[in-house]
Amino acid sequence: MSSSSPIPFNRPSLTGKETKYIEDAIKRCHASGDGFYTKSCHSFFEEKLGIKKALLTTSCTHALEMAAILCDVEEGDEVIVPSYTFTSTVNAFVLRGANPIFCDVRPDTLNLDDTKIERLVTSRTKVIVPVHYAGVACEMDSILKIAKKHGLYVVEDNAQGIFGKYKGRSLGSIGDLGTLSFHETKNINCGEGGALLINKAEMVQRAEVIREKGTNRSQFFRGEVDKYGWVDLGSSFLPSDILAAYLWAQLERWQSIQSKRREIWEGYQQNLTNWALNQGVRLPVIPAHVEQSFHLFYLILPSLEERSRFIAHLREQGIHAVFHYQALNSSPMGLKLGGRKGQCPISEKLSDQLVRLPLYNSMTEEEQWRVIDAVLAFQVRSSEKAKTESLAA
Ligand SMILES: *Cc1c(COP(=O)(O)O)cnc(C)c1O
Repeated sequence: MSSSSPIPFNRPSLTGKETKYIEDAIKRCHASGDGFYTKSCHSFFEEKLGIKKALLTTSCTHALEMAAILCDVEEGDEVIVPSYTFTSTVNAFVLRGANPIFCDVRPDTLNLDDTKIERLVTSRTKVIVPVHYAGVACEMDSILKIAKKHGLYVVEDNAQGIFGKYKGRSLGSIGDLGTLSFHETKNINCGEGGALLINKAEMVQRAEVIREKGTNRSQFFRGEVDKYGWVDLGSSFLPSDILAAYLWAQLERWQSIQSKRREIWEGYQQNLTNWALNQGVRLPVIPAHVEQSFHLFYLILPSLEERSRFIAHLREQGIHAVFHYQALNSSPMGLKLGGRKGQCPISEKLSDQLVRLPLYNSMTEEEQWRVIDAVLAFQVRSSEKAKTESLAA
């Protein structure tokens, strides 16, 4: 590749065995759900992440929708969600009739602010949904304590945090339920896919039923019941074994994928720290008790204008850097659901100021140096430099 070819924000990367396993999945004559590869993936997550029961789903979005059904979320229930997240975190519960209660995020990790949760709890609150932004753990001890005190479910949206840990425990294994995403943009991918991680034994059987169109088909195939029928709510949340075969090829190489991402992430951190300090730019904050997933590397610029200049500066050199969420409390749908502009000031600042650098499994050293050099050549206007201070850790 020539040194001037564009550097994308993300490039889905194969490990080499994907097509072989996909072909094998087809030849096994079991291309529907819960075949050989699906079962391998389930055992992998249960063992590696310490999960009671893992179930592959067609997406993380669908895993969150299953979680909302499993928590019996009903019309008028309240669900506490971070404002700085993807729509699926909230939609899953709104689809069951819940009212989202937007909570701002912490200025350091950009995660659900555990110090602001309790004042949002009412008699209608049913679930807290911590999102491990960038695969850096939320303050789970505080969140679990509040949940326990008020009898609330905790559903970890761990779309970005596969293999991340909080005080030694795998993300997704800490709440009642957790989710994973295997969307093309995530660390481990199969195009579109996800998983529901179930940490409560009493939820396992119902989860299987919900995933199989409301039937007890899974129990029937295990010989636990002599016929199967319609026993609960449900939908078709299970992916084809062909997708699981793709996923399995990636999971087999999880260590090399994670160490490659770690190398790139640390390369950015080491080479940009001084520049960031001089320019008034904030880099990610990783608390000492957290092992992150190296999902993304972000910068927080002092203002929307500087961010726009920064993105344009990189684009001129063929480098695609992108911003992230628009705060949900002040989004068109968030406003319809009771959100207010100004309600989550940190999330709203991040909507304007955060930018993500290219980071993908197949990124070459040369590509990364082009990005680093381009970033180092950017100068924040001196009148703007002091402005990120309110987001300093
Ligand atoms: C990617 C992502 C999702 C959605 O994942 P899909 O598998 O695409 O449905 C949900 N929540 C967060 C925080 C995400 O980053």
